[in-house]
Amino acid sequence: MQYDRSNIFYKIINKEVKSNIVLEGKHFLAFHDITPKAPVHILIIPKGCYVDYNNFVLNATDEEIVNFNKGISEIIKLMKLEEGGFRLISNSGKFGNQEVMHMHVHILGKSSEE
Ligand code: AMP
Repeated sequence: MQYDRSNIFYKIINKEVKSNIVLEGKHFLAFHDITPKAPVHILIIPKGCYVDYNNFVLNATDEEIVNFNKGISEIIKLMKLEEGGFRLISNSGKFGNQEVMHMHVHILGKSSEE
């Protein structure tokens, strides 16, 4: 599928649309999901234009992929999710019910402080 720059996450990366940012890295941005489905619900997205998870892994540079995955670990630590546990979800395409066509991983969990 062709990447479409009119999606909301593209606008969030370019700061045309505001988001509640948790962490920004060289190749990723992480922010709170607008409709949280867990006590902690964060979305992490690559800054590059990739439609979904597989498109990201197949086309991103190793540096982007490593930076993105280390970003996930940084967020787990920052939000204190290690103890309580967490889920990582990346919806893709029709079967995955993907709503926003910019690759993203949902980080859902509960902070050990709550
Ligand atoms: P999905 O594409 O199905 O993995 O889900 C997209 C997610 O993006 C949903 O959980 C939405 O609540 C979330 N979302 C949509 N627009 C925004 C926004 N402007 N800021 C934060 N989260 C958003």
